[in-house]
Amino acid sequence: MKPTLQRPVTVPPSLSTPVITPLMPSVVYASTTPDELDSQYEGRAQGYTYAREGHPNADVLARRIDALEGCEGGMVLGSGMAAVAAVLLGLTKAGDHVVGGDQLYGRSLRMLTEDLPRLGIATTMAQVTDAASVAAALRPETKMVLIEVVSNPTLRLADLDGIAALCREKGVLLVVDNTFTTPATVKPFEHGADIVLHSVTKLLAGHSDVTLGWIGATDPDLMARMRIFAVTTGMTPSPFDCWLAERGLHTFALRQTRAQDTARRLADHLAGQAGIAKVLYPTRPDHPDMARAQGLLQGQGGNMVSFVLDGGRAEANAFAEAANGVAFAPTLGDVGTTLSHPASSSHRALTPEGRAALGITEGFFRVSVGLEDPDALIACFDAGFAAAGSA
Ligand SMILES: *Cc1c(COP(=O)(O)O)cnc(C)c1O
Repeated sequence: MKPTLQRPVTVPPSLSTPVITPLMPSVVYASTTPDELDSQYEGRAQGYTYAREGHPNADVLARRIDALEGCEGGMVLGSGMAAVAAVLLGLTKAGDHVVGGDQLYGRSLRMLTEDLPRLGIATTMAQVTDAASVAAALRPETKMVLIEVVSNPTLRLADLDGIAALCREKGVLLVVDNTFTTPATVKPFEHGADIVLHSVTKLLAGHSDVTLGWIGATDPDLMARMRIFAVTTGMTPSPFDCWLAERGLHTFALRQTRAQDTARRLADHLAGQAGIAKVLYPTRPDHPDMARAQGLLQGQGGNMVSFVLDGGRAEANAFAEAANGVAFAPTLGDVGTTLSHPASSSHRALTPEGRAALGITEGFFRVSVGLEDPDALIACFDAGFAAAGSA
C-alpha cells in the first residue's frame, strides 16, 4: 500500500447535514497561507487556530446561553470558578476594591477574602438583602460588586434592583452569579447587571457529568478583556464537555419547570411535618423575602428548598441515612435530588457561632430537587423524618 500523509483530514462530503452539533475535539486548525492566518487574527475572517483560544463546541454552547440570558458574545470556560476568576482577576488591578455578598458560594468567598487581598485588591463583604449595606461598603476605588440573587443555603433574596441602581449611580460594575436562579427565573441584564456569570455545571447542563462556566457582559470591551485573561490563563473548556452541556441545555426549560413544581410541593409538605423547626422556600408566605420573590423571581421559587430538623447531629445522621433514596452529595441542579448538610460540608470552615448567625445549625439541610416522581420523593423524606424522630 502506498504511504499517505496524515494531513489535511478529509470529511466525507454529504449533501444532507447533521441534526445535532458535531463534536470537534481538534486542538489545532490548519490554514492555507500566512495571509489567511493574518485575516483570521485581524478579525477580517472567522476561523479557529488553537483550541485554548476558542473552538466550535464552546462557541455553539456560548451562543445558546447568550440567548437565554439576553446578551451577545458570551464565553464558556472550564468551570464556574473559572468564570468567577475571569471576572474578578481579569478586570481588577492592585489598589482596586471589590464588594461581595457575604453569603456567596464558598469558593467565591474564598477568592474574595484570600486571593484578591494577596494581590493587593481590597475586598469588603456586604449583606446584599439590603442595598444600604452595599452602599456603606463602597469606596472611591470600588470597581465592582459581586452578588448572587438567592443565597446558599439560606435562600435569602438580594435587593437586585436596589443594588443595580446604586451601582449605576456610582459607576461601579454589577456582577451577578445567576447559577442558583438561572435565566428561567431572573435575567440579571434586564435588571441592570453589567456582567452575568454561571456555573454551567449546575442546572444549565443539569446532569452532573460536566464542569463548565459561562460569562457574558453588556460591554464588548469588558468581554474582550475577560476573554484575553481566560485564554492566557488557560480556562478553556473541553469540546466534549461543551457538547454534553449543549445536549443537557436542550431540556433545561422542562427540567427547571418540573423540579420547581416538585420543590414547591416538597416545601409545603415539609412545613406541615412534626420535627421540622423551619422550612425555607422563597415563595412561601413564611419566607422573609416572599414579597421580593413575587416581583424579582416572578413568583418562581426555584428548585432549592432548605429546612431545619429539630435536634442535633444524631437526628441529622439518622435522617440522612434513612432518606437514602436521595444522594447525600454537595451539588445542585442534577436530574436527581441531592441533599446537603452545610454544617459538615460547605460551611464547616465557619465557627459554630458564625454558622448560628446565619441560622445554619446541625439540623439544617439544603435540598436540590431533581426530576423524580414527587410522591416517591416525599415518601423518601418521610422515611428520613420518621428515623430522625426516633433517633
Ligand atoms: C457551583 C457554583 C459555583 C462554582 O462552579 P463550578 O462549576 O463548581 O466551578 C459558583 N457559584 C455558584 C453559585 C455555584 O453554585
